[in-house]
Amino acid sequence: MKTLRLILGDQLNSHHSWFRKVDPHITYVMMEVRQETDYTTHHIQKVVAFFLAMRRFCTDMQNRGHQIIYIKLDDPENLQSISENLIHLINSLPIEKLEYQLPDEYRLDQQLHEFCQTLEIPWEAVDSEHFYTSRDELASFFRGKKTFLMESFYRHMRKKHGVLMNGTEPVNDQWNFDHENRKSFPDRITFPERDKTRLEILSIIDLIRKCGVKTIGTADEASFPWPVSREEALVDLEFFCERLLIHFGQYQDAMHHSEPFGFHSLLSFALNVKLISPGEVIQRVIQEWEYRPDEIPYASVEGFVRQIIGWREYMRGIYWSQMPDFGNQNFLNHHNPLPRWYWDGNTKMNCLKHAVGQSLEHAYAHHIQRLMITGNFALLAMVHPDEVDQWYLGIYIDAIEWVEITNTRGMSQFADGGLIGTKPYVSSANYIHKMSNYCKGCYYDNKLKTGHRACPFNSLYWNFYDHYRSKLEKNPRIGMMYRTWDKMSSDQKVAILRQADYYLKNVNDL
Ligand code: FAD
Ligand code: SF4
Repeated sequence: MKTLRLILGDQLNSHHSWFRKVDPHITYVMMEVRQETDYTTHHIQKVVAFFLAMRRFCTDMQNRGHQIIYIKLDDPENLQSISENLIHLINSLPIEKLEYQLPDEYRLDQQLHEFCQTLEIPWEAVDSEHFYTSRDELASFFRGKKTFLMESFYRHMRKKHGVLMNGTEPVNDQWNFDHENRKSFPDRITFPERDKTRLEILSIIDLIRKCGVKTIGTADEASFPWPVSREEALVDLEFFCERLLIHFGQYQDAMHHSEPFGFHSLLSFALNVKLISPGEVIQRVIQEWEYRPDEIPYASVEGFVRQIIGWREYMRGIYWSQMPDFGNQNFLNHHNPLPRWYWDGNTKMNCLKHAVGQSLEHAYAHHIQRLMITGNFALLAMVHPDEVDQWYLGIYIDAIEWVEITNTRGMSQFADGGLIGTKPYVSSANYIHKMSNYCKGCYYDNKLKTGHRACPFNSLYWNFYDHYRSKLEKNPRIGMMYRTWDKMSSDQKVAILRQADYYLKNVNDL
């Protein structure tokens, strides 16, 4: 009996029970296919990171004695589709059973399920053994509820898994320390040097070019910070615990024009392709805090744990409870195209120039840059969520649909009507000025609402609230905005709305 086991590019979990013993009756298959390089236009670093991580994983598993067929992108036998390569192998080898791990993406889940229905041999789908939760755990937790509040799910996760708990109570008597985590960077601050030159990426770049794969962004050998093996991911986790965790919390929302990474962990790619598990990341972070409780603020630890067992598991649960309908949501009925400068960073708005620019250069922006700069502007400019999704799905190193679409269409674009975020994440220049040093060097004036140097965020912000009054006014978290708006004179309101209208009509020139 020969079994063929498929390993997808984001299933690089060497601790999976599949690999516990070497079995000569089992052959694994991994493949680089145009189906995956072309379903959106990816950042070049993302394609490089996936292929390098897959190749490293394959070599490691082969060294452990497992039989793996690895199909490279330019292999002449490569049929460039997962299903077609599988059927070719099943027909040409004596394969009697197919097994695969449940994919994280709906698209691949459907494809593999439908493919298996056509097979004449038995098949089996098994868990990927990575997440804390099963696909439908969140849906069961919120069954019968109208809103899916992250905070209640997060508390449930803390209790269920005994994370940062003193018996039944949270450590330090409070569940959430977010209020301590909102500082901007001081004028003088030193960011620890990161190791960015770990490996040879040129061969994969050549392969991508030779095969004509369309990509965005740039890749530079001297600036490739992504871990592509479990060992490298563990080195990064150590670096985060030893050097960055201490400041992670307080500066997690802060933005700086010359520092793309701040004190963030850069672990999302390694986590999403399963080189490391959320459980081991959290345990190591908590252990570091237990060693140095007087040095590392508890708010940093709690904030980090919330991102992983809160937001990350929550987004996965939302995805599986809402797909495929979630992919068509457009609550605010937005239809504008994405401004041109999202593709080259060529705008006079300093915050967007830097957030887009660093995304093109590094395939990375941190959460607040994604939410409150690029996402905020797209929402205020009423861009169609499909266009926003495609941009986010392509540009970021960690963008895989289950965690991209929920954050983008849901949290950032309010296209789900408030299932994830209880209010739209929009802001005027005030917030950006408070949390960054972008406004200092900007062509626009963050204090002005009207006039040719007025910051576009200001008028677009009020235009957004005015436009959606009937949809948003009753939201208790927003009511105060309407009271402020109503206090403005009608001349002032007309001027602001005119300014917004001008900016929306000339959005490509901002
Ligand atoms: P850190 O700030 O160090 O956080 C640690 C870890 O927490 C991350 O590695 C990540 O695994 C997890 N995490 C934090 N916030 C979230 C969140 N909101 N949802 C899920 N996990 C979270 N994350 C992705 O992994 N892939 C995406 O495609 C993606 N798209 C996003 C789109 C938008 C519009 C927004 C607002 C956020 C998106 N995020 C996405 C969440 C978050 O921005 C990234 O996980 C984070 O910036 C990755 O960098 P880091 O590893 O340095 O994270
Ligand atoms: Fe961005 Fe406005 Fe500040 Fe310029 S002034 S950096 S456009 S928020």
